[in-house]
Amino acid sequence: NSAKRHEVREQLKQLPDVERALSRLSLGRGGPRDAQAILVGLKTAQALRETLYDAIENPALKNVLGALVPSDALVAQLEKTLADELPLQARDGGVVRAGFHAALDEFRNLRDHGKQRIAALQAEYQTQSGIATLKIKFNHVLGYFIEITNSHQSKVPAEFIHRQTVASALRYTTTTLGELERNLKDAADKALALEQEIFGALLQAVLAQASHITTTARAMAQLDVLAALAHLAQKQHYVRPKMDDGLAFEVEEGRHPVVEIHRAKAGEGAFIGNDCALAAGERLWLLTGPNMAGKSTFLRQNALIVLLTQMGSFVPAKRAHIGVVDKLFSRVGASDDLARGRSTFMVEMVETATILHQATERSLVILDEIGRGTATFDGMAIAWAVVEYLHNTNKCRGLFATHYHELNALRENLPHLGAFHMQVKEWKGEVIFLHTVGRGGADRSYGVHVAKLAGLPTAVVARAQEQLAWLEQKPVQAKQAELALFDAPAPAVSEPPASNLLAAALAELEPDEMSPKSALEAIYRLKKLIS
Ligand code: ATP
Repeated sequence: NSAKRHEVREQLKQLPDVERALSRLSLGRGGPRDAQAILVGLKTAQALRETLYDAIENPALKNVLGALVPSDALVAQLEKTLADELPLQARDGGVVRAGFHAALDEFRNLRDHGKQRIAALQAEYQTQSGIATLKIKFNHVLGYFIEITNSHQSKVPAEFIHRQTVASALRYTTTTLGELERNLKDAADKALALEQEIFGALLQAVLAQASHITTTARAMAQLDVLAALAHLAQKQHYVRPKMDDGLAFEVEEGRHPVVEIHRAKAGEGAFIGNDCALAAGERLWLLTGPNMAGKSTFLRQNALIVLLTQMGSFVPAKRAHIGVVDKLFSRVGASDDLARGRSTFMVEMVETATILHQATERSLVILDEIGRGTATFDGMAIAWAVVEYLHNTNKCRGLFATHYHELNALRENLPHLGAFHMQVKEWKGEVIFLHTVGRGGADRSYGVHVAKLAGLPTAVVARAQEQLAWLEQKPVQAKQAELALFDAPAPAVSEPPASNLLAAALAELEPDEMSPKSALEAIYRLKKLIS
């Protein structure tokens, strides 16, 4: 219902952060503008209910609308009480709308027309004394005072009381001026005190409805998310994914929701959709291919499609069928945590360890370039063992991107490992990235080519090409070592996963029966199982 959706999104644009305003008010830190935020929020809720209630039949959405409970009485009270332009703090005054409270209006009148009254008194004294230059002035020490220059001292009326002498004038007060000053000051104080009282009562009324306001705010937040996702789905041509309890993962012409938009905005051409089917025989994909070909994008887009599916969104694909994923693991990019004593490679390994310990048959794992931060053989050996473990022990659905083309050999021993690559075309010595996923493994990474594109000095690129040619020909120790490594026997497939042992050991524990000491010992035992 695009028309309604549009209307809802327009209404939501006015919506302030109602929950934040409410929490500030309930902590006693809120001001008049927070009360106004509540008012705008509740009015938006009223409008949303009116727009949608009769137009919507979907029961889930009706439920969300049912949670919009803006109290009409509170809306009316807030509207009647609060001024249109509000100060930041209640103590600044100007919170209450003119006309709301008669006594307040009177005090304000007196306070605001003080200047006119002073001016009138000044004119009166000028006439009475015949001193045209007589002035009533104000300063913070004396308050209001009458100033008469030295030359007119003989004409000063008798009731003027001397207060101060300055170089060229004398300053006076009178009982009338003193009284007027007191009235003006009192009026301002009284107006402020009355406003505080009225605002305090208004806050009580708001806080009495706090739980309704929270429910309403959350329902609006939910509508906001749903309307935004619906908008995105239509604008970007998403489809409704099929979901069930199985272990399916079939995505047809999937796209990356962010890269796609970015490319369009930058005028970089269309995003190319790619299929991904993780099924028996190819539950775990080994994805090889050149740098810059789109491996990371492909990995992430499939993880994001799962995320979108499970949050109730449509997805960027032509068709998607997702068996519910219990955990989504991703290890991508490089970061360090030096403050906590972890180098880049250490972080990578810690994250990989978490995945291997926790991923289940129901999980989806994406791993991008495991083992890049260490020596080539160490890295390749780790990547090799990780693929085996994911395949044999975790048995999860997964995508594993790597530049170690040698890992393709693993397919011989791992029946559920699929080999795929990102396709490129070589044309007149240049590499063209097709951004499409094809069957089979890649045998080159074109890293030197990408380095050239990135602007490495020509001399460095030329030297790298030379070195590469030499390394590729070198049939010596390195290659032999490689072969020896990959001839190593595959581990027994039946080794029980640490997570099962852990689960069994945990099940045996009786927390209520344990002393602190035995609890600590149990933790050591459990840790041993996974180390
Ligand atoms: P590396 O091995 O160097 O990390 P990679 O293979 O992981 O590279 P990505 O980082 O995924 O490559 O992609 C590089 C760029 O290619 C992206 O920033 C994106 O602009 C573009 N790209 C990736 N996939 C697609 C696609 N399917 N359609 C269009 N452009 C794409």
